[in-house]
Amino acid sequence: EAKKLLGVEKDELKLSIDAIRVLERKSLLKDEKGNIIETPAGMVKRVAKAVASVDKRYGGDVKKTEEEFYRMMAGLEFLPNTPTLMNAGTDLGQLSSCFVLPVEDSLKSIFGALTNMSLIHQSGGGTGFSFSKLRPRGDIVMSTKGVTSGPVSFMRIFDQATEVIKQGGKRRGANMGILRVDHPDIIEFIISKGNEGFLDNFNISVGVTDEFMKAVEEDREYNLINPRTGKSTGKLKARDVFDLIVIMSWRTGDPGMVFLDEINRKHPISHVGIIESTNPCGEIPLLPYESCNLGSINLSKMVRDGEIDWEKLRKTTRLCVHFLDNVIDANRYPLKEIDRITKNNRKIGLCVMGFAEMCTILAIPYDSEEAIKTAEKLMKFIRDESVKKSVELGEKRGSFPNFKSSMWANDYKAMRNATVNTVAPTGTISIIANTSSGIEPIFALSFVRNVMGTQLLEVNPVFEKIAKERGFYSTDLLIEISKTGSIKNIPKIPEDIKRVFVTSLDIAPEWHVRMQAAFQKYVDNAVAKTVNLPANATLEDVRKIYVMAYKLKCKGITVYRYGSKTKQVLVIAGLR
Ligand code: UDP
Repeated sequence: EAKKLLGVEKDELKLSIDAIRVLERKSLLKDEKGNIIETPAGMVKRVAKAVASVDKRYGGDVKKTEEEFYRMMAGLEFLPNTPTLMNAGTDLGQLSSCFVLPVEDSLKSIFGALTNMSLIHQSGGGTGFSFSKLRPRGDIVMSTKGVTSGPVSFMRIFDQATEVIKQGGKRRGANMGILRVDHPDIIEFIISKGNEGFLDNFNISVGVTDEFMKAVEEDREYNLINPRTGKSTGKLKARDVFDLIVIMSWRTGDPGMVFLDEINRKHPISHVGIIESTNPCGEIPLLPYESCNLGSINLSKMVRDGEIDWEKLRKTTRLCVHFLDNVIDANRYPLKEIDRITKNNRKIGLCVMGFAEMCTILAIPYDSEEAIKTAEKLMKFIRDESVKKSVELGEKRGSFPNFKSSMWANDYKAMRNATVNTVAPTGTISIIANTSSGIEPIFALSFVRNVMGTQLLEVNPVFEKIAKERGFYSTDLLIEISKTGSIKNIPKIPEDIKRVFVTSLDIAPEWHVRMQAAFQKYVDNAVAKTVNLPANATLEDVRKIYVMAYKLKCKGITVYRYGSKTKQVLVIAGLR
């Protein structure tokens, strides 16, 4: 059916029906009437051509590079973030997923940021904002002698604007809103997503400092500071605030936490500025006006004869760094401020997807010491190869302009990119590649996926294959599995299979955090990961996760308790 749909040649791209549907909706070019005018292979060719053409400036072999980029994407070994798929080689030409915009304490700045946000959303990017500089609710407005209604009220305007632009752009705009824990409006912020529908287009996170975490541990009070005056407006008990964060995120999934001091300690270009915000899903901490383009290696394709194919992974990693560095030059930025700082730092985010699927192929349970060790070894390898390639590109093409006083300058003579790795959610591109998303465990072995209004029933392909080989596959079995997504309580499935095919909600929460921390160790940006909890998880579970994430040096943390939003993306048929 899929092939008939688009006339894709048999051997070009092997896509699932879901993949075709997602591509049709989001990435394939359309004419003015909305008719699709390219095939998936055509899309990959367009992207490979546009990105490879940059090689000309640096004396590279454009044709050879184009061929290599094409093969890597057509084989679903690597896919760039959705804006690159949508816009490469088009007039719009905006290729990045991640942006951070500054919001200063003036109406001019606030509404300027709003305009800039709309342009970014329209072009397929997501935006992060710190609202920490806005004066608190009730504070004076000099020019009118009136009072302000505070950061949360302004966030509502950003949220509404996003809602409206959504209809014009190709994909939904997403936002991150951050408020520092010592802002006087922090309580209003923490509870702001308690009413469903309010700030729906925002993920929110509390910007937490080391001092705050210490105050929680020692059960002390801490100062709230008015950002306009720099003076204290009062004190709160750190544990009360921490408890409120825990309660709200248990109830609704928001707010998460970002650990600002850890982010800035590890930021390789700390001399350029202080980071106050991340992109919408938390994986890319960015300076004001910075942007970053992402792309992910499909790990399930990096396995051969039951082992990781290190040589293939090395080649792929190197080619991906080349690709993502080219994207920076091929990109058309929505604002000149963004163009300038992005090219001064040249951050890229090479990520992975299909980690959980790879583990099932290697017969390693996700919740095991072996999986943690594999994650560290794998990410260290990708990090080392990425850095080597970026150093080589730096020698050939020149270092990023802010290289000189960066952390990289301690160890290297040249470096092309201020950051190289990340772990993104890969929400869309993992569907195209038909693998598990990012570093998340398999969500369910069979489940219903809501993709913009359409419901799709899915079965894990590796499980399907093994079930057939071992002779316990049947349609009835699949229907039974789809009720819970898990095979934990199905007697006729062999124990060794049950151990390897663990799903997100089978896994104890600690393993989610440990896995995030294992990847973070070798990632210079951050890791997007949701600690998925069963509906019956307790407040104490959430509290432990937050403390553990901080102690294990994660840069941020998000939890999601099953069923705590009525409009959730992934639904297990029997758990509704
Ligand atoms: N993003 C966005 N809107 C969306 C999904 C994602 O703006 O609907 C941005 C956001 O910054 C997010 C980043 O894209 O952090 C990467 O998300 P993901 O890996 O899911 O994107 P994909 O490339 O798979 O579409």
